[in-house]
Amino acid sequence: MSIIIKSIYRHKLSLSFLLVFLILIGNFPGYAMADSHGSFNHDELKEVNIYSARKSYLMKPLLKAFEKNTGIKVNIISGKSKELQKRIEREGVNTRADVLLTVDAGNLYIAKSKDLLKKIYSKKLNILIPENIRDIDGYWYGLSIRSRVIMYNPNTVSSNDLSTYEDMADKKWRGRICVRSSGNIYNQSLLASLISHLGEKKAEAWAEDIVKNLSRKPKGNDRTQMTSVILGECDITLANTYYLGKWMSSKKETERNYAKQISVYFPNQNNRGAHINISGAGVVKYSKNPDNAIKLIEYLASDEAQELYANANHEYPIRENIKVSDIVKSWGYPFKKDKLSANNLGESNHKAVEIFDKVNWQ
Ligand code: FE
Repeated sequence: MSIIIKSIYRHKLSLSFLLVFLILIGNFPGYAMADSHGSFNHDELKEVNIYSARKSYLMKPLLKAFEKNTGIKVNIISGKSKELQKRIEREGVNTRADVLLTVDAGNLYIAKSKDLLKKIYSKKLNILIPENIRDIDGYWYGLSIRSRVIMYNPNTVSSNDLSTYEDMADKKWRGRICVRSSGNIYNQSLLASLISHLGEKKAEAWAEDIVKNLSRKPKGNDRTQMTSVILGECDITLANTYYLGKWMSSKKETERNYAKQISVYFPNQNNRGAHINISGAGVVKYSKNPDNAIKLIEYLASDEAQELYANANHEYPIRENIKVSDIVKSWGYPFKKDKLSANNLGESNHKAVEIFDKVNWQ
């Protein structure tokens, strides 16, 4: 009997030692520090962190669906594109960012040149995303398409008077054009496309003539230009179509009324097509969850996500098999899009800024 008691006592002791040992190395289920997601090991934490220059309300329904499909928790930090890039730069290896989501190929190109992004390979992305709207080296991927078109006052301009971006430089538009300042990347990318298609000399002459045709100094955002057209300060302007979509679907009656007083014209339909740009994403160089980051970008490129993603902001999906909203359809769809690689927009950005300065496009 005493032998049995002694054996149990000894066993208890060794069990206690084993327990203490397991707790110390952190491998005993239930004793290791569990985080709020219920994981026991940080490496297995299923999360992905997005630094997003897109408004979070546009992303929420999509991200919810992604979380539900994959069990990967999505955290989103919103900000302006430049600020987010600076933040990733400043945080360096310690950054929490896994995905940089931003607008304009010019911005994505800058992020790649500043070494903020990671080169990835995804067969899925290479199939889902047309080649002309992703980085040639796999650093960033286009997720929606926007078109920068001519918007005009239908009371003072007939669509027959309109044709191409080049035609906006014609004398007949003297004192009739409003534009946004050249500091904005949308116009920089448009000029970059003209540099790629026409060469530097012709692109510069174009910018110079547009400045001559202005009815006032460049100021405000795209909606300021559209408002100026409606108020008769000018007859035509350059703007991204989704801003009109925002007006058409606005809760404000004034904006819905404004929307009725301006028309969309897709330029260059008889040659290369209207200028397009993208919103897109890349995996951050020092991402701690690169696999989850790739999964998220793949999801955003999928058929299911594309319909929601593009329509949330009245943009165009990256493939034409995806339905567009009635608002987007009302401007004419499909239209002929410029097939120029978005890579060229980034590459010629520097030159475009130089030309704008030279011709005094403020
Ligand atoms: Fe915009």
